[in-house]
Amino acid sequence: MAKPARSPTPEASPAPEKPRSASGSGLRSIASAASGWWDRWGVMGSSLSKLERAFGDQFPERERYFGLENFGNTCYCNSVLQALYYCKPFREQLLEYCTNNRNPEDAEENLLTCLADLFSQISASKKKTGVIAPKRFVQTVKKLNKSFRSYMHQDAHEFLNFLLNEIVDILEKESSSANDSPETTSPEKMSNGAAVHGIRKEPLVTWVHKNFQGILTNETRCLMCETVTAKDETFFDLSVDVEQNSSVTSCLKSFFSTETLNADDKFFCDKCCSLQEAEKGMKIKKAPQILVVHLKRFKFIEQLNRHKKLSYRVVYPLELKLNSISEDADCEYSLFAVVVHLGSGPNQGHYVAKIKSHDHWLSFDDDNVEMIPESTLQTFYGSSREYSSNTDHGYILFYERVGNCHEKTDSPNAEA
Ligand SMILES: [Zn+2]
Repeated sequence: MAKPARSPTPEASPAPEKPRSASGSGLRSIASAASGWWDRWGVMGSSLSKLERAFGDQFPERERYFGLENFGNTCYCNSVLQALYYCKPFREQLLEYCTNNRNPEDAEENLLTCLADLFSQISASKKKTGVIAPKRFVQTVKKLNKSFRSYMHQDAHEFLNFLLNEIVDILEKESSSANDSPETTSPEKMSNGAAVHGIRKEPLVTWVHKNFQGILTNETRCLMCETVTAKDETFFDLSVDVEQNSSVTSCLKSFFSTETLNADDKFFCDKCCSLQEAEKGMKIKKAPQILVVHLKRFKFIEQLNRHKKLSYRVVYPLELKLNSISEDADCEYSLFAVVVHLGSGPNQGHYVAKIKSHDHWLSFDDDNVEMIPESTLQTFYGSSREYSSNTDHGYILFYERVGNCHEKTDSPNAEA
């Protein structure tokens, strides 16, 4: 297994490169900055923020809701950070890692420590709501990856991938340096919250893997001798093509559909020792805890020689089923976050996150957080007409697994 879990269909991502359109957003920022100010300083007797008043006595105990300041087109980052913050197991494991690994002497700042600091700053805040500036985090992102350095519009999905893989890299490096040190002779030594089993070659399963990683099996069946060749591939998210008037369920169905390799596209069968017609398809071998579905709305159009945003209507259900070949029943998932892209093209626009927390849906628009009715989610499905004034679309969907599917086979990875 090479680098764990990039998107299984890495396609050239759009290079969104124009500043977020100023029209309207200026007003919004001023308004929300003002509301942020009120929320922060809550003047006089009424120190409750608008959001606290919206929750009333249903404000979840120990939960915090903070907007994130925008540092010039950093909405791609803010929306993804919020979705990850309200991905409870991810947040808890990150904070746990942070508590167990605080070593001030050799505290080297990296993206993981910056993220952990940001999350603990929010979760440990005395105030229940407000605004936080993820300045150090954003600076570190820009320092590490030059494609995020400009003030241009960025791709939130690309950022999510970068962030998760960066965290995994840091955890792997920490784990291997812990293994190299002479004191660590115990084969079962716990390191960074992930167990390292004796043999070093075994791929490390970090808490990022435990949350997001699934395994796909690519199967090719030779139509002449019926031999099946299977190859496993890990993923952190599924990037699916979108079709007009469809649903996430049908997009996933096409993603997993079989195709026939024939004519110029035959398959070399090792058993037949020749090119043969074959059937090829992908199946879920291990379903992830958190299923991230990326709708490929930014499509490269050859005739135009540029990316175009597809505003197709793609319904995303609140509950989703996924069939896994290693499990008895379908795995059931529940939607808890949607990163929405607002705007007509791939090179401009704005990202917000719609997130479910304690049975309430909230809208996170940079520094502004407000409660929304669940029905609002339907307004981001897209349009069944080619030209529509509605340019706000669900882009990245976060589903969490509900219930417990019994796994028939062990994962090939070292599982802690
Ligand atoms: Zn064959």
